[in-house]
Amino acid sequence: MSRRLLVTHALPYANGPLHLGHMLGYIQTDIWVRAQRMMGNEVHFVAADDAHGTPIMLAAEKAGVSPEVFIAEIRAGHEADFSDFHFSFDHYHTTHSEENRELASLIYTRLRAGGFIANRTIQQLFDPEKDMFLPDRYIKGVCPNCGTPDQYGDNCENCGATYAPTDLINPYSVMSGATPVLRDSEHYFFELSKFEPLLRDWFGGKFTAGKPVANSGVVAKLMEWLDGGLKDWDISRDAPYFGFPIPDAPGKFFYVWLDAPVGYLASFKALCHQTGLKFDDFLSPDSTAEMHHFIGKDIINFHGLFWPAMLHGAQLRTPTALHVNGYLSINGAKMSKSRGTFIKARTYLDAGLHPEFLRYYFATMLSDAPVDVDLDLKAFEERVNSHLIGKWVNIASRTAGFVQKYFDGRLADHFDAEEAEIWRFIESHYDDVSKLYEDGEFAEVTRKFVLIADVINGYIAAKAPWLMAKDDSRRDELQQVCTLALNGFRLLAGLLKPVLPATVAAAEQFLAAPISNFDDARRTLFGQTIQPFESLLSRIDPKHVEAMVEASKESLGTSSEPVVAPVKAASVKKPKESSKPMSDSKPAISDTADATSTISIDDFAKLDLRIGKVTACEFVDGSDKLLRFELDAGTLGKRQIFSGIRAAYAEPEKLVGRNVVFIANLAPRKMRFGLSEGMILSAGDGGSDLFLLDADQGAAPGAAVR
Ligand SMILES: [Zn+2]
Repeated sequence: MSRRLLVTHALPYANGPLHLGHMLGYIQTDIWVRAQRMMGNEVHFVAADDAHGTPIMLAAEKAGVSPEVFIAEIRAGHEADFSDFHFSFDHYHTTHSEENRELASLIYTRLRAGGFIANRTIQQLFDPEKDMFLPDRYIKGVCPNCGTPDQYGDNCENCGATYAPTDLINPYSVMSGATPVLRDSEHYFFELSKFEPLLRDWFGGKFTAGKPVANSGVVAKLMEWLDGGLKDWDISRDAPYFGFPIPDAPGKFFYVWLDAPVGYLASFKALCHQTGLKFDDFLSPDSTAEMHHFIGKDIINFHGLFWPAMLHGAQLRTPTALHVNGYLSINGAKMSKSRGTFIKARTYLDAGLHPEFLRYYFATMLSDAPVDVDLDLKAFEERVNSHLIGKWVNIASRTAGFVQKYFDGRLADHFDAEEAEIWRFIESHYDDVSKLYEDGEFAEVTRKFVLIADVINGYIAAKAPWLMAKDDSRRDELQQVCTLALNGFRLLAGLLKPVLPATVAAAEQFLAAPISNFDDARRTLFGQTIQPFESLLSRIDPKHVEAMVEASKESLGTSSEPVVAPVKAASVKKPKESSKPMSDSKPAISDTADATSTISIDDFAKLDLRIGKVTACEFVDGSDKLLRFELDAGTLGKRQIFSGIRAAYAEPEKLVGRNVVFIANLAPRKMRFGLSEGMILSAGDGGSDLFLLDADQGAAPGAAVR
């Protein structure tokens, strides 16, 4: 029986172009959707731009346009990227839509009527320089859970904890650098804690006939949060805010995360208007349709806790499953603008790289588990060239010509015994393809692809049709070889059709036989007349990959990404009068471009900068300026350094465990209190305005800083 599926992928935020990190999860979704369609299921695939919130309001303000104009432009760019990567949405919408306003208001009023909304006056952090309440993402500080510095005000990228921005240690405003102050404001809370039994039932598969709602690791993480106690969720924000006003609450707006997932439903509602589908068939609590959300692992909490609770509280159905993907790294490291690995989807395409090559590469790495994926650019090139061109396209290019030349394009009308046996073997490996797609095991699908292709290529090599072609008496044999090879080529096309939709469409034309479902591809084409073969794909030219990396480097500094925390380091090397006001939109890094004089790289190389892990830190008797540090400097051993930052750090013992940057080859200095073996770097104007430099987690003691 055909299933009815509503499928969504995480909504891209409408404040900048898509990069390859976005594409990982989105490609995963599109492959799954296309496979479901090939299984004969009724699939409705919708998504939307997530268009609300302070970052968009501020970005529009900076660009000098209205938020509506700003998000419309971004959306046009997103839609062009999706189209060029062959995404098969049934509808693409925006959360800034009438459907979404109605649905968000409906859900909210039902939650309020159900007694799940509470009003409370809270103290919220306010930027006294910018004169507004600070959204979570515009406050940074030390994670209260794991102690990682520079974490956002809503959750920690290191340990995944969620918390209130007031929980941050040493908070600062990302917009002005000012220390935020607390002010009173009335807020609206969704009482998530009232849904604990519901969530336990949902995790346990009560609404999904016992089927798990997510990969076991994801469910375990959700259970951990549940067992830790659910906190009520602040769903309101004060004006100024770009979003929907909360009904009956002047000056209050829905927090963007309230109406973002509702955007899935709004997009589907718009589709219903266009097609006559019935919204309630999919969203009523007793619906037999399925609702699948594909998301990144950074937003599990929103989709695995708040979202099912909101839906249930508003008398709507809960999701059938969450499909969670991990993060993308490139060349083994976090995407980086300076290395040219912060690659936009458009930059990839503009460099002349085939969109389906990225779809294939990601497919070779994806499974049901939310594992991180590395796009190793060399492996990308080699794997695509080897698998798709070397193993697959070559099957056709080595045999199709003979079929035209000697048989008028006609394949044999049967298999001989040997070919029949090979066919049975490769078909047996094709049997569980739809199950593998269903389970999200795309890497396993591509392993089947390689295995079957290797069998066929081995057969072709053993038979050597190019020798047969020279001998008139071996025509039947030659036709057998070509018929098996091209049927095998077609089986592989069927196997990869969800991954390579456009390329396989061209292969279908060539074979003059459509593949509309997985069974089509295993029906042998006996006696079939095929079209002349034209090359389906060409190998990746390494120059295109280089061009992509170069172009990504060039976009440094002109990106529309939000500027990172205002680094005070700029004032270290410059006279004060030349420092620019914060309203300057350039990233902090370019602030140093007008430094008084330049040095050569050799001058810089003279400094031996290293990471040191603080093993001890204390006040120094008889000095009101100094702190005494002991550092673990890895291979350099232990170092004692006196640093004049006492006024900035009242509790030196709290610095133990931190990574600092120090100059290792500064001549040791004999001081009244002992020997100082180096200098610890900090930024700021002196006195209490001093900030130790930090290295991200993972930097080993003694590591060189370059
Ligand atoms: Zn943390």
